[in-house]
Parts: sequence; C-alpha cells; structure tokens
Amino acid sequence: MSNGESPGLYIHVPFCRTKCPYCDFYSVTSLSLIPDWLDGLRKEAVFYKDHFAAFDSIYLGGGTPTLLTEHELAALMDCLFNNFTFSPDTEITIEANPDDIILDKLGVLRGIGVNRISLGVQSFDDKELQYLRRRHTAPESELALERIRACGFTNVGLDLMYGFEGQTEAGWVQTIKRALDFRPEHLSCYQMTLEEGTPFGKMLAEGRMKLLGEEEEREFFLLTSRLLEKEGYIHYEISNFAMGKEYISRHNSKYWRHVPYLGLGPAAHSFREDVRWWNLGSIESYCKALVDGKLPVAGSETLSEEQHRLESLYLGFRTSAGVDLELVRNQPRFDMILSELQESGLVQVHMGRAIPTREGFLVADSLPLLFADW
Ligand code: SF4
Repeated sequence: MSNGESPGLYIHVPFCRTKCPYCDFYSVTSLSLIPDWLDGLRKEAVFYKDHFAAFDSIYLGGGTPTLLTEHELAALMDCLFNNFTFSPDTEITIEANPDDIILDKLGVLRGIGVNRISLGVQSFDDKELQYLRRRHTAPESELALERIRACGFTNVGLDLMYGFEGQTEAGWVQTIKRALDFRPEHLSCYQMTLEEGTPFGKMLAEGRMKLLGEEEEREFFLLTSRLLEKEGYIHYEISNFAMGKEYISRHNSKYWRHVPYLGLGPAAHSFREDVRWWNLGSIESYCKALVDGKLPVAGSETLSEEQHRLESLYLGFRTSAGVDLELVRNQPRFDMILSELQESGLVQVHMGRAIPTREGFLVADSLPLLFADW
C-alpha cells in the first residue's frame, strides 16, 4: 500500500574497525570482504533496476560507512547512480564515526554528493566513551564537528546515548550542552537497550551490569525533551529532534509512515506494497546467493490490512505526526479511550489526528494496545 511518496534507498555497509559491546547491528571487523560486498551490491542493484520509482533519499548506514576508502565510496555511488534514478534534491546521509573524519575524507563525501552527516558521538565524556568501548575520544568528536562545519556541511546530526550504568543526569546534561555548542541540525538521543546476543547484553543477563531503573529512564527522557525543545528543537520522534521541519530525517521518516524503501546489502530490510523482506544476514551467504544468480532474500512477510493498521498505530504514536483517528474510530470504546488519554495528558487531538504528548511518548508502545483491545 504505497502512498505515492518517493521511496528511500538504504545501503548496509557491514564493516566496523571494532565492535561496540552494546551494538547488535550486523557488522564484521575484517575489512577483507569489502571487494566481495561491493561486487554483491552491484549484482543486487541490477535485480532491482527499474523496479522502484525515483528515490529521494539515500542512507549509507551500518556498520561504519566512513571507513570505506575514497575509491570504494566512489564505486558504491557509481553503482547506485548507474542503476537507479534519483530526484534532484535527494537527501544523501552517511553515518560517520568521529575517528574517520579527516579532511580528505570529508572532501570525498562532498564529492560523491553526501549532504547530511550523522555522527556517532554518543558522549562528550571520555570516561563514558571508554565504558562504551568507543574508539574515539571527546576531543576527537569536537575536532570532527569543527572539520565537518569547515567543509561546509549544513545538515549535521549527532547520535548521543543515555541510560547506561554510572551515567549521571548532570553528566548527560553536560553532553547535551556540549553538543548544542555545535548547533547540530539534528540530534538522536537513544536510550541504551541491550540485546541478548551482545557482550553487554550477556553481562546484563549475568547480573554484572545494570541499566537505568524505570523512574530514572523517565527522568532522563523528560529532561532531554524539555531541554532540547527549550533550545528550539522539534521533538518529532521518541528519540529524534530536529532544529526545524526541513531537518527532520527524510529517510527515517519513511520507515515510520509505510513509505516504500529498498535496502541493499547483508541484513538490509525493504518494504513495498505491504510486503516486507529482509536479506541474508552474513556477507558470505549474501555474496554467495548473488554469485549463484539469486536474490539474497532470507525471508518476507505480507502485512494483512489489520497488521498494517496496527503497525500504523505503533509507528504513529512514536512520532509527533501521531495517528489518523480514522484508524481507530471503529473501536467500540473509541470515544471513552480517547477522552481518557486526553484527560491524562498523554494525547492531544489536532486536525483529526491523535498526537502523543511528551508524556505520551513515554508510553507510546502501550497506546496501540488500548485501541486493539476489541
Ligand atoms: S555502534 Fe556503530 S561503530 Fe559500534 S559496532 Fe555498532 S555499527 Fe559499529
């Protein structure tokens, strides 16, 4: 069920210099498979040539796309531009790590058309960065941001993380304030969550590590939202803030609104016309399928009308766009539920939509259940 908007193109770059112990994105630390991965991408792109309308966003994610060399980045973009069409104002985002931001690399990124950088800063406290086993230091992030600005990038996002053991509210506020010194156009403030398969997840399961309690989580979330809104940012998704509407991530917004997207690379996900499919989750199996002339798809699902509706509720309540009331109007207790949500300050109604408030964001995942309880 495409809504006629331009699709987005995601490229998964599954390489990192080292693995962060809390991360469950698919990536490997050996760079020797980069040529095979690039060959695989070229083959996969050919499969989808002419199957999608012109894209208006490209997102190079990972992994660590900025560890690719100039030659590899140019080859990657050639592959995309040779196989697909793009609107002239395409948003081209790259996820970057501060230790990769050298001036030469920034020139290369501009040269290949990147117009948005999402920098994985996480914290401006070196002790916290050591705890997170990040490769970079706070001064390296600061230098990277100065260089990014000096190179003329005007759409810069910072990823920051809260909710890990030993972090204080005061320390978190310091990190946000240091980030604000650079007036980033976008901020993603993620609460640490740990998946079982990660080293930190294992430590958590074994009781060797703690995360924030529920009340602390709530406090960190609320203070982040208040502080950034006071600084003029729009809190447009649970974890995301933009300095103006024009800086809302065009690409990520597609995920939240069922706009079609194509994901290329191992473990990448795609969505179109209510079908979601995902690629094989290792470089080797991904490349082998393509060498054998097959699409590297590991699985797929077709959303029923009801699944689509429920997903729209889940995704909508996580954003400031909220949910179209027509999606829930048939619920027998619709009026009562909506009134209660409004009275408790979790939701506001505006232009036929139920919009979560800041407090509503805190319980966003439970709101759809109220309307699913027939
Ligand atoms: S957090 Fe980023 S740099 Fe760290 S392992 Fe995950 S993808 Fe790689």
